[in-house]
Parts: sequence; structure tokens; C-alpha cells
Amino acid sequence: MKQILVVEDDLALSRGIVLALSSSEMQLTEAHNLLDAEQLRQEIPFDLILLDCGLPDGSGLGWCAKIRRECNTPVIFLTANDTEYDEVAGLEAGADDYITKPFSLAVLRARVANILRRQDSSARIAVDGFVFDFETLSFTRGGEPLELSKTEQKVLQLLVRSRGSTVPRERLLDRVWGDSDYVDENALSVTIRRLRSKLEENPGAPRYIKTVYGIGYTWAVKP
Ligand code: CA
Repeated sequence: MKQILVVEDDLALSRGIVLALSSSEMQLTEAHNLLDAEQLRQEIPFDLILLDCGLPDGSGLGWCAKIRRECNTPVIFLTANDTEYDEVAGLEAGADDYITKPFSLAVLRARVANILRRQDSSARIAVDGFVFDFETLSFTRGGEPLELSKTEQKVLQLLVRSRGSTVPRERLLDRVWGDSDYVDENALSVTIRRLRSKLEENPGAPRYIKTVYGIGYTWAVKP
């Protein structure tokens, strides 16, 4: 399930976007000003933000630049004027794309799908204060480096890429240990325990890497 935040003060447009994008795969949340948007962003790990440039309490551009300093959640600007200046300014603030109003809902759906697809294949995942870069193999929590073994990295990648859904034990065993002749089921439990001890504040009551009894593990997303 993808979490999408729509920040738009034109209520009819905001509602239209939500209706157009809502599906079993996408959950939409609306904010009509930057204050609410920032509050929601602290609570929900959004996969994408659709952001109006002109909002009652400030500029979407400035807020986007702030988001960029903290995480890599993709941002699509919804811009009212089709001037090159707006487009360039939007992209310099760190936007991933922009759509000029008025836009068709088909265009909106296509752009959103494109960004979400790109994000899924991206090697760098920022989630819950962690930044996991599976390309440069740099892993941090609140900017502090984390040391992870190759096996821990593989398990972690499978979990965070599917965050919010359960990854079955069999899939983890197959994808991480599939090449070895003999797989000790216990190896997975040990790796999960080590990951928790490195990532969780309280490994005994994990917040992120949850056990789904009888099935597997999930990187939990806040409801
Ligand atoms: Ca506006």
C-alpha cells in the first residue's frame, strides 16, 4: 500500500485528486496548508507528496527544500502557472516532477505511477529516520552510521522494500540463502535478532521489524 500526501488548498481539486488516485494500492491523505502537511509528514511515512506551490501559510517550494534536507520522499509539484521559472524553481527545490494545472487525471495517474515505479527501483531508501543505501552500502540512523553484515543487508533490503507487507520466511530464506546447499532456518532468526539489536531502540519490543507469527516478518509502517 502506497501512502500519498496531497497538499492543495483548492478543496475541490484536492478532493478530485484523492478520488482519481484512490485504489487498493494507494492511500491518500489530504492537507490544505503547510502546517498540517508537516504534522502529517512526521506521523506517516509517505511514498510520494503532491504539492501545490502557493499555500495559505507559505510556499510549497520552501517546504520541499526542507523535506529534501531530511529525506528523499519524492515530490511532484502542482503548479498554477506554466512559466519556465516556476518549473525550474520547483526542480531546484528538489522536486521529482511537476504538473501544470489544469491537468487531466490521466496525466496525473501516469506521473504518479512513474515516480512510484522509479522509487521502487531506487537503491536509496529513507524511512523512519533511517537512510539505507544499498548501492553505496551506507546505512545510517539519524545520521549515525550503522554497521551491517552482507546477510543483514540482504534481509533488510527485502523487508524495507516491501514495508507495510509481510515477507514470508520462505521467501527470505530463498532470496538470501538460496544459493547455499544447506539452509539452516535458524540463520534467519539469528539475522533478524542481530538486525533488531542494531536498528531497534528496544530489540525486545521491536517497532520496525515485526514478527508475523507463522508467516514471516514485516517492516512495520505506522498506521
Ligand atoms: Ca494554491
